[in-house]
Amino acid sequence: MTTHREPLDSVLDTVGETPLVRVHGAPEDVPVYAKLESFNPGASVKDRIGAYMLEAMLDSGELPEGGTVIEPTAGNTGIGFAVAAGQLDVDAVFVVPERFSVEKQTLMDALGADVINTPTEDGMGGAIERAHELAEELDDAVVPQQFSNPLNTEAHYELTGPEIHDALDGEVGAMVAGCGTAGTLMGTAGYLREHNPDTHVVAVEPTGSLYATTKGRDVDEAEYKTEGIGTHDPSTNELFDPEFVDDVVQISDRDTHAELQRLAREEGHLVGSSSAANSLAAIDVAEAIAAGEVDAPHDSVVTVFPDSSERYLSKGIYGDYEEWEG
Ligand code: PMP
Repeated sequence: MTTHREPLDSVLDTVGETPLVRVHGAPEDVPVYAKLESFNPGASVKDRIGAYMLEAMLDSGELPEGGTVIEPTAGNTGIGFAVAAGQLDVDAVFVVPERFSVEKQTLMDALGADVINTPTEDGMGGAIERAHELAEELDDAVVPQQFSNPLNTEAHYELTGPEIHDALDGEVGAMVAGCGTAGTLMGTAGYLREHNPDTHVVAVEPTGSLYATTKGRDVDEAEYKTEGIGTHDPSTNELFDPEFVDDVVQISDRDTHAELQRLAREEGHLVGSSSAANSLAAIDVAEAIAAGEVDAPHDSVVTVFPDSSERYLSKGIYGDYEEWEG
């Protein structure tokens, strides 16, 4: 990473301080910036919570030295926890619904973690249940529970938020980010709002996801291909606070797929589908600010590109829309 100029002792020292790069598809007068989280050692935003949560749980004694971390995860969180667990002498077990990408599961395995699959039709709920069953069978195991653990949000409040604030000298008009657990948006925007209570905060989800219902919107539930964001049951995502969010933007898989290809072709970003959804939503917000439809304290929008497209090549993301398995 460009900001790491000294020799470092461990990959954990390379978590965070990721670049903030302009997205040129946005209006000139309201720039959009994306935080490129694939620069983390496990190549996603989730390395931040992996290192932060494990260190915090070891410090507090909640996770015993040499203990086991068991997490239900769509993949990137597993990689983030596996990178940190390996360096902190913790065993790692991940429970992953089958539909998630094979690349992620291969990487968790390479990092020394055990991967257990649950049926796709049982969703994340099935994976969460299995993780707790496994934890009960061991006496030194902890389930960090990224969907409800405040340490997830805190990692972004302590790290991602200040990095964005400092990079733009505090001039952040809006923070726009896709919500899986919502830790990224809640923590980052939490920090930014503390410095400027008028910061506009927008959550992003794929069309078919149900976060919008928490804002009283009548949206239809459907399957979606975009990976890493969205929910079929907002009540399981305890970190998401609808009161804190000004708006929830839905982006269709088809638009996301086209944007993911545009970002590569025109801007050189090799990013996953959630990055493309974030890009479109952030551009929409920038256009609304430019048109005077949204009040923001500064003419700028920040979003996050959570991971890289290399993680999804096996799913045909650079092929035709119909071929993309999602
Ligand atoms: N994009 C990708 C690719 C992810 O793996 C995740 C995490 N599920 C997110 C976005 C959303 O991050 P968060 O859980 O912090 O809302």
